[in-house]
Amino acid sequence: MINKEVEDEHNKMKDEMAKDYGGHLIKEAEYRVKAIGYLCIREKYDVGEVPEGFVEKLKQVYHSGVMMGSLGFHECEFCLNQGVKELSKDALSSEEKTVRDEKNKIDYMFPKMIFHYIKIHQYYPPKEFIRLIMEL
Ligand SMILES: [Zn+2]
Repeated sequence: MINKEVEDEHNKMKDEMAKDYGGHLIKEAEYRVKAIGYLCIREKYDVGEVPEGFVEKLKQVYHSGVMMGSLGFHECEFCLNQGVKELSKDALSSEEKTVRDEKNKIDYMFPKMIFHYIKIHQYYPPKEFIRLIMEL
């Protein structure tokens, strides 16, 4: 599952909700979903060192509030590709989380796997997402 697919799926859902029920749910549809860290072996991703304290902050955010189920079970494709036989516990997960950016009307979704991607595969999330998390 890649970012674009996750976004499309959720935004479509929001649009349909707004259309079907109207009124009070329109506000919900104003928030567009932006998916972060759904990495895929077929796509390049940004690599870099995240700011100090970012991972700790993101963990706090991740463990606060409601935990969501996911669209599907996922294993780390990069580890599998490297021939890692025994995937570590953080290399497979079906959990994800949404964080709302009120100011910019964005719902950021990210999988639990993001922690694994950052730690093991040096994934560098979009700057605006990092900024939001650091400011929370
Ligand atoms: Zn991995």
